[in-house]
Amino acid sequence: MRAVIMDAPRQITVGEREDPRIIEPTDAVIRLTATCICGSDLWPYRGVEPADHTPMGHEYVGVVEEVGASVTTVKPGDFVVGSFVISCGVCEICRSGYPSKCIHAEFVAGFGTQAEKARIPHADGTLVATPGMPDDGLVPSLLAASDVLGTGWFAADAAQVGPGKTVAVVGDGAVGLMGVLAAQQLGAERIIAMSRHADRQALAREYGATDIVTERGAEGAARIKELTGGLGAHSVIEAVGTEESVLQAIHATRGGGHIGFVGVAHEGVQLPLDQLFFAEVHLHGGPAPVRRYLPELIQKIWDREIDPGKVFDLTLPLDQAAEGYAAMHERRAIKVMLTL
Ligand SMILES: [Zn+2]
Ligand SMILES: [Zn+2]
Repeated sequence: MRAVIMDAPRQITVGEREDPRIIEPTDAVIRLTATCICGSDLWPYRGVEPADHTPMGHEYVGVVEEVGASVTTVKPGDFVVGSFVISCGVCEICRSGYPSKCIHAEFVAGFGTQAEKARIPHADGTLVATPGMPDDGLVPSLLAASDVLGTGWFAADAAQVGPGKTVAVVGDGAVGLMGVLAAQQLGAERIIAMSRHADRQALAREYGATDIVTERGAEGAARIKELTGGLGAHSVIEAVGTEESVLQAIHATRGGGHIGFVGVAHEGVQLPLDQLFFAEVHLHGGPAPVRRYLPELIQKIWDREIDPGKVFDLTLPLDQAAEGYAAMHERRAIKVMLTL
């Protein structure tokens, strides 16, 4: 099969990989309909993380081709959406709502879904079938549910977004924009998007942002305080993952408020404990338990209540993945969908 391989930083090729096949009775093999490039794929692209002939991709939608003997919830021919973390669905951690910390958890990135096909272990606990075959217009939104929508939704949930709340969103990438959408859906009264890019500000407004703040870091946090009568936001979504962005989130939150942090932190990024201590806020985050939200999010997309697929502002065939990576790296695109 054809698959995207990162030979080295900034070197993307679409080459041949062996077709996946069923190994465990809990596996499914799916033929991908679409996949995409994630902000986190840019870390190895930029050389911040290692890349050595690495298969890429962890977001996916497609049609089940084959299932192992013990798979019961999906069958060949089903259109499925899956989380970017494998989960069994039955262990105590999965049942408590944290499938991304399942005792069998594995990152799908290790399998590489920027490819024609993928093997998905623990299919029953990882995949969710859609109510039927989606028309082409729904595919981008269903693909967004696989990671960025589910991640933004978790961030809003972790930040206790709800009616009457003021929400600030740090980060205007796809996840931050999905956090805006989630905040609007969860009934937030005011949603402040922090962004410096006109195209992203426009999409944030479309998804429900009521205010835009262009300042960053300490200035950005001060601006949020100013806009909230000196108190800070009730809920802050952190979708970047650097020391500066997390501190910006901490200082933009009111005492007793909540932060949902989903920006992927990297080795060596540290937080000054004194600032965290004296801020007196709730901090909850990590790799989002996307599988928990998939049934609800798929239904909202199916019923056309939400249109998260607009975050894909560039669509290319899989063979042009290298151009997709370059476009995201150079910020010419928010998020790139790859079609098969
Ligand atoms: Zn992703
Ligand atoms: Zn589990």
